[in-house]
Parts: sequence; structure tokens; C-alpha cells
Amino acid sequence: MVKKYETPMLDQLRGGKWPSFIDGITRLAEEHPDERIRAVNHSLLGQLEHSYETRKGYWKGGTVSVYGYGGGIIPRFSEVGDAFPKSREFHTLRVQPPAGNYYTTDILRQLADSWEKYGSGLVTFHGQTGNIMFIGTTTENTQHFFDEINEYGFDLGGAGPCVRTAMSCVGAARCEQSCANEHKIHRLLVNNFMDDMHRPALPYKFKFKVSGCPNDCMNSIERSDFAVIGTWRDDMKVDQAEIKKYVAKKGRQYIIDNVISRCPTQALSLTDGDELQVDNRNCVRCMHCLNVMPKALSPGDDKGVTLLIGGKRTLKIGDLMGTVIVPFMKMESDEDYERIVEIAEETIDFFAENALEHERTGEMIERIGLVNFLEGIGIEVDPNMVNHPRESSYVRTDMWDEEAEKWFERKAEQAAG
Ligand code: SF4
Repeated sequence: MVKKYETPMLDQLRGGKWPSFIDGITRLAEEHPDERIRAVNHSLLGQLEHSYETRKGYWKGGTVSVYGYGGGIIPRFSEVGDAFPKSREFHTLRVQPPAGNYYTTDILRQLADSWEKYGSGLVTFHGQTGNIMFIGTTTENTQHFFDEINEYGFDLGGAGPCVRTAMSCVGAARCEQSCANEHKIHRLLVNNFMDDMHRPALPYKFKFKVSGCPNDCMNSIERSDFAVIGTWRDDMKVDQAEIKKYVAKKGRQYIIDNVISRCPTQALSLTDGDELQVDNRNCVRCMHCLNVMPKALSPGDDKGVTLLIGGKRTLKIGDLMGTVIVPFMKMESDEDYERIVEIAEETIDFFAENALEHERTGEMIERIGLVNFLEGIGIEVDPNMVNHPRESSYVRTDMWDEEAEKWFERKAEQAAG
């Protein structure tokens, strides 16, 4: 017999314009053939209603792990478990998705079956860190579920002060803008740091994200400590015949208003003969024109990646964007891929040794200074390490001429005696 709870406040949430998360839980609570899953979800709804009534959260943490692992599970024990016994333990397992989030429907079914066997049936594809979130199971079933999915190739992700589950964009298989083998980079980084993912031993979290082009679909520049972004350094490719087709279809004024004048660096112009001219040296790879006219414009042939370190959301010193550490590197040989892993290793080692407790890499760099950080990871300072393209190099070159003149004047004065 499944115990049901009155949920007048939750019911109101379902009445709005947009689908509510309550709908999904209610569907499991009402319609799932397995009585255990129905009971767990009813209990969950009951606790949630109670939280809304009393304006308090009743989940508390603890320690739950699977054998041999130190992380990957977010423990949730209910403080009102006596009133809602079926969801008394409601732990979440973070499971790593495949690079680029490619699944077959078979594997999705298999994951869903395993979860219905051991968990609540609630799953999120994917959480903010990139994991598949299997939400709601007991301490005992945590191990059983993990054993089962591990058997067919899935592993827990990171939770706590450790290397977190990495993310990569959909990549070259489905996107024409891709400039790098983002999945290979993702896999290499993850496989190399698996230990640091499963056994939290860092001052705080450390995230890798890989985007294949400057569109940065993974938001790696804002959301990862170590961002790898595909780019190109030669001229972008322009198919003038396609440009003419766009102009014929949309009209000259439309192209001028929506492409030419929206280039942030005014690197584009349209000739009287409807040919697009690109001032490639001033293009900052914002991707706007390539996105608007994907048939006519595409990245150049000289492709590679840019590495940025230190992006993160708000914590101690507010949001930070990643800092360019390697402006451009080709990704052709095995050594190139090894070099990325090597830089990541140096960075994590330095982070582990020098960051304060609960401090992200970006905050550490702000505190100790970029030069010290670069020295620590063995990278030469380069004027191309910029904060904003064309704007501010970390290596100050302004006033160099005046300083040089002053030096010559001083020399002349000294010589004159
Ligand atoms: Fe301008 Fe952006 Fe196009 Fe470069 S990618 S030419 S910066 S609009």
C-alpha cells in the first residue's frame, strides 16, 4: 500500500505556464508500475510540501561512498525521515557521461533500467558539472547501482574538492565549426586524472571543459579552471558565391545591419560587387559572422587550441573568466596532446601546493600574481596572453617608447658629464 500525502502547494506549481519539475515526480509517484518507486516519490513530494509549508530544507549531508572511492556521491539524509520514511535516505550519484554526451538509446535504456532497479527513477541529464545525476537512493543501493553500471562501463564523477567530471561540446561529428578533436582531449584529461577525481585531495574543485571552437558551447571560459578552446590562426575561409546568395536572398541592407556592422572589431566590409572582405588580422574570433552565414564562412585551415586557466563562478572574489595561458598550439601529433596533459599536471600540482583551502585556481592566481603562477608551471610570459582580444596584454608594452627616450636622455646627460 503506497502512502500518499496532501500537496496543495506543490499542486499550484503545476498550474503555471511552463512544465514543472513536480510533474515528473508526480508521474513517477502515480504511474510507475513498481510500487517501491511510487512510494519513494510520494514520500519525496510529501517532504517537499512540508519544506514549502515550514520554509525550511530538511536534507542534511553525511558520508556515503562506494568501495574504494572517496567521492562521486552527494549524501542526503532526511531530518524528517520519521514522517516521510520512504525517502529517508535520498543520495545522488554523479556519473560521468561519455565525451560529447553521445549515447545510444540502448545504453540510455540500460541506465534507466538499472536506476529503476535500485533508485527512485529520477535522473537529470546533465547537472551543471556535466554529470548524469541519479537522484535518490539508499545507502545500501548506492553500491549495488554503482556495481551494475560499472560493469557495463560507467564510472562515478567528481564531488568535493577534487578534479571534477569534464565536459566537451558535441564536436566535429555534428558541428562544422569544430577546430579540434575535443573528445580526444576530454578523454585524455579525464583518464589521466581519474585518481584525483575519485579521491578528493585538492584545496577545492578543479574543472576541465573542452570546446571545439570559439563559440565555446561548454562555457569553458567562464566555468572551468582549465579551458581548452579550438581556434584557427590563418584567414577564415570565405565562399564569395555563397555570400552573393545570402545577399540576393536577404538583401544588402540586411547583411550590413546584421553581419557587417555587428562585427565587434569592424573587420568586415561588403564591396559594391557584394563581395565580403575580411580584415583577418583584426578578427577576434567572436564567431558572429560565421554563425550567421555558416555556408559562406568557415574557420581557416591552420587549426589548433587556446588554453585558458582560472575561470569560475562567484565565490570569494566574484566571477572570473579564464586567463589565456597558451595563446595557440597545434594539435597534430601525440606529443601535442601529451603537452596539454603535461600543462594540466603542472597546473594541478601547483594548485594543490599553493592554493588556500576552498580557493579556486582563478582566485589563487589573483592572490599570488600571474607571473608567479606562470613561473610555477614553467610557461614563458607572452604578450599574446591577453585579457580581452586587442585590448590588454598582460605584458605591458605601452609607454615603452617614452621610457626608451628617457633612457637615451639619461645616457646623453651622463656622457655630457
Ligand atoms: Fe568580426 Fe567576429 Fe566575424 Fe571575426 S568572427 S570577422 S570578429 S564578426
